[in-house]
Amino acid sequence: MARKKKRTKIARRNKKPAPIRKKAKVLKKKPSAKRVLKKKSRPASAPPRVSQVVRQPVQPSTPITSYDVVLHNFDIAAAKLQLDEELKRLIKTPDRELRVELPIIMDNGKLNTFIGYRVQHNNARGPNKGGIRYHPEVSLDEVRALASLMTWKTAVVDLPFGGAKGGIAVDPRQFSMGELERLTRVFTQKIDCIIGPSEDIPAPDVNTNAQVMSWMMDQYSRRHGHTPAVVTGKPVELGGSVGREEATGRGVCIVLRETAKTNKIDLKKTSVAIQGFGNVGAHTARILEEELGAKVVAVSDFKGGVYNPRGIHYRDAVQNILETGSVVGLKGAAKISNNELLELKCDVLIPAALGGQLHGRNADRVKAKLIVEAANGPTTFEADEIFAAKKIPVVPDILANAGGVTVSYFEWAQNLQQFRWDYPRVVAELEKVMTRSYAEVIKAAERYNVTMRIGAYILALDRVAKATKLRGI
Ligand code: NAD
Repeated sequence: MARKKKRTKIARRNKKPAPIRKKAKVLKKKPSAKRVLKKKSRPASAPPRVSQVVRQPVQPSTPITSYDVVLHNFDIAAAKLQLDEELKRLIKTPDRELRVELPIIMDNGKLNTFIGYRVQHNNARGPNKGGIRYHPEVSLDEVRALASLMTWKTAVVDLPFGGAKGGIAVDPRQFSMGELERLTRVFTQKIDCIIGPSEDIPAPDVNTNAQVMSWMMDQYSRRHGHTPAVVTGKPVELGGSVGREEATGRGVCIVLRETAKTNKIDLKKTSVAIQGFGNVGAHTARILEEELGAKVVAVSDFKGGVYNPRGIHYRDAVQNILETGSVVGLKGAAKISNNELLELKCDVLIPAALGGQLHGRNADRVKAKLIVEAANGPTTFEADEIFAAKKIPVVPDILANAGGVTVSYFEWAQNLQQFRWDYPRVVAELEKVMTRSYAEVIKAAERYNVTMRIGAYILALDRVAKATKLRGI
């Protein structure tokens, strides 16, 4: 028991640095939202309201796997493109799948073994590219889906990359920094044979960050010589690009701004709910508030969410995380669940956490007028059909969150050239890529009379199919 307590203490002391590191100033507190959400008291004997009966807890996952969703979208786009059957079969499934066993000695001296994966989906347009995720729900199926999404994403924004993804089935929140480093180094050793600057370039994803990328770069460099271009999302001190940390959030905001223009939405009068307040969610919230003037009314993390119809300031939310480890408990905001956040009355919903959050059992209750997918694979095809019927536009993940891989591309290019770009150049180049890609997706969607998601898949499949044919099989 004493030992367990000590370990928990060490883990707390050594825990992974929060993605947002700068200590933020607490802004003036705003009026409480509790009043707005507070229900009038009813006698205990009163029958339940209809809303209470209908609002059963929503299951967090669905029997449809994330890979099923990607394949479904692929098939629709391939049919629209009338893609040759053999070519279709070739580019649909992953090129290579690696499963590795990862033994590490824990701080208590015991040996523990974890399972990791690296899946390379397609490299017809360039080296494989994709993040590394540490999460208990990581599975081969999920990594396959995410690798495949990366192929389509890099093609949508026309980067010279293919698609890959990796992950370890682990809850890193239970780990000390030492344990996390040992796990990362063993994983890097085990996938060393298939990664490299012209082979496959990992990057951060859920529960991994610049520190994890530093260890990966260092481990790879021990065998191959100093090789910063083997991973992206590194700290600037080790060859990372300025602007990489915020890049996915900035990209989300650029496509939201373009969508708002197309749909004549005034962002200054727009309320936004964001699920997930990690790297992507937090930077999205900051840029929306500070640069676009939108009102973020709800944010959440793995512990739950908070809601204030008068607006939640990014800096207050960050301060709360620094003090308590979560957005939950933010003063002046009412506590809500992650499921309630998805169903809030707001103009824009931004899922920025895990996949499969919007599905057949909750899509009907979504009240937002626009959904922008900052997370990978947050919407199942059942939910997509419901949103299409309700005329709720969905800006798909493979466009909306492509800002991260775009600045990863800038980082990789800077590493190869041993040259540094400044922040204004990174932001300007990102703007160019995201606005051009947005316009191309809209054009494809209009030409084929399909949703933005299928339009984006059509654009991507066409590019990958052409590259594959040109290279020869
Ligand atoms: P992160 O680990 O920095 O943050 C994840 C956030 O989601 C945290 O706030 C966490 O508490 C929260 N969360 C975890 N489980 C949750 C749950 N069940 N319900 C609600 N919230 C939960 O990860 P990130 O890098 O911000 O990635 C978020 C999403 O964006 C993922 O889907 C990832 O694949 C995608 N994405 C990330 C990048 C990138 O550059 N980091 C690029 C493209 C896409």
